[in-house]
Amino acid sequence: MIHALSTPAFPTFSGRLISDPSAMAPFLTDWRRRWTGDAIAVAQPESAEDVAIVLRWCNEHGIAVVPQGGNTGLSGGSVPEPNARALVLSLTRMARIRNVDPVNNTIIADAGCTLTQVQEAAREANRLFPLSLAAEGTCTIGGNLATNAGGVQVLRYGNVRELCLGLEVVTSNGEIWNGLRGLRKDNTGYDLRDLFIGSEGTLGVITGAVLKLSPIPAAQTVAFLSVPSPAAAVRLLEVAQRRVGSSLTAFELLTDTCLDLVLRHMPGTRRPVESASPWYVLLELSDAVSQEHAAEAIEALFELAFEEELTTDAVVSSSLSQFESLWALRENISEAQAAEGKTIKHDISLPISEIPGFLNHTDQLIRKQYPQVRLVVFGHLGDGNLHYNLSPSYSSLTDSDGGASFLFLEKELNRLVHDEVVCRGGSISAEHGLGVLRRDESMRYKSSVELKLMQALKKALDPKGLMNPAKVLA
Ligand code: FAD
Ligand code: ZN
Repeated sequence: MIHALSTPAFPTFSGRLISDPSAMAPFLTDWRRRWTGDAIAVAQPESAEDVAIVLRWCNEHGIAVVPQGGNTGLSGGSVPEPNARALVLSLTRMARIRNVDPVNNTIIADAGCTLTQVQEAAREANRLFPLSLAAEGTCTIGGNLATNAGGVQVLRYGNVRELCLGLEVVTSNGEIWNGLRGLRKDNTGYDLRDLFIGSEGTLGVITGAVLKLSPIPAAQTVAFLSVPSPAAAVRLLEVAQRRVGSSLTAFELLTDTCLDLVLRHMPGTRRPVESASPWYVLLELSDAVSQEHAAEAIEALFELAFEEELTTDAVVSSSLSQFESLWALRENISEAQAAEGKTIKHDISLPISEIPGFLNHTDQLIRKQYPQVRLVVFGHLGDGNLHYNLSPSYSSLTDSDGGASFLFLEKELNRLVHDEVVCRGGSISAEHGLGVLRRDESMRYKSSVELKLMQALKKALDPKGLMNPAKVLA
């Protein structure tokens, strides 16, 4: 619904304003095509000053603001609500690299720069910006920060919160806060930067960031190991951390069901080990010395793993193409799962010590109570983060209702999985945020004290409730 008649004249700014319904459409539906909303217009500012002009106007006229980057978020936070009197604020035209400082190991980027753009600018200065995820060609640094994105190298470099030193933010009433400080130590009061990181556009608009860079490793190697159980995988993680320390950049877990999905749906893939195993680990080593040094470390690790019966088969990449094809087996799981129809996803986080017990217990519960469900479990074991996904069983795939009866189970399966997660000290959103997807469930699991503090912050920073309303908090 367009509220054109009741919309006051838009202020002059140097960006672009889109109000044609067909041109607006791509900004109103999320990546997974699960949520579609309405807006009076889409504004595409070109500077922080532009953003400030737009936010002052929205504040004055009581119009909601939905900040949007690459619109690749998976929790529905980047699109407006249906029938909303809202403006989508798309940051993608604010895409300048402002400064690279190789001595301070920092880069300052506009919020609308894509992640790939930042990685490339760092590489041109012979540095590494280590955040990496499958949507990197489209997602923006502002979106990464607003969702505190993780990805595949969190084990070594941390999530984006740990990669950010400073922010520039436009507040809900249109003031610009310049917090673009490239400091590793700054104890001067409340940490506003950390408040905006992960706030999913509900407290203000991120317009720029100072990001931390690292040296480019001399060599990268990936190993793929068959492991008998999650407990063996957790023990292998412990052994690997002891043996290679911070060279361990990724430690991923997947089941044979996941591998099987990838082999069936992704052309050119093949099983890297001789025979099937219930579980696999993919681990990556980034070595500061040389390829030979990395190969020696992996060999020594394999020896320990075989000695302790933590693995039954193991292969290691010896070329870039092998490195890429082993990683592809992990990175294509989501796409392969989607190729088989409807999915129910859980992005959960647990203390690593709790993961074997959680999997053992929850897998059994689901198999017993829901034989029509297939478990598609994988994730970043080194970070305690699992993508505990579900698909219809093979026998129910041919059901004529297009998967509707499977999706009908979503609420009760969410409850089952998330209750198990929370009672083991875990979190119902590890890296994708709450958005609208997990908003109401989160209300159920957070204590009243935590909720009161969150609501107080929201009220203080966004007194009129115009910043991405109905996201994160109900
Ligand atoms: P959007 O989707 O546009 O927005 C996401 C949220 O941030 C919304 O609430 C929005 O309002 C807010 N926002 C956006 N820009 C700003 C801004 N400048 N200021 C304030 N608020 C803002 N996530 C992971 O953590 N790890 C992964 O490995 C991972 N893999 C992915 C793989 C694929 C194929 C896809 C599609 C997504 C994946 N994601 C992953 C989800 C991830 O959250 C997003 O890809 C990314 O971080 C969001 O960036 P975006 O620019 O697309 O943000
Ligand atoms: Zn992930």
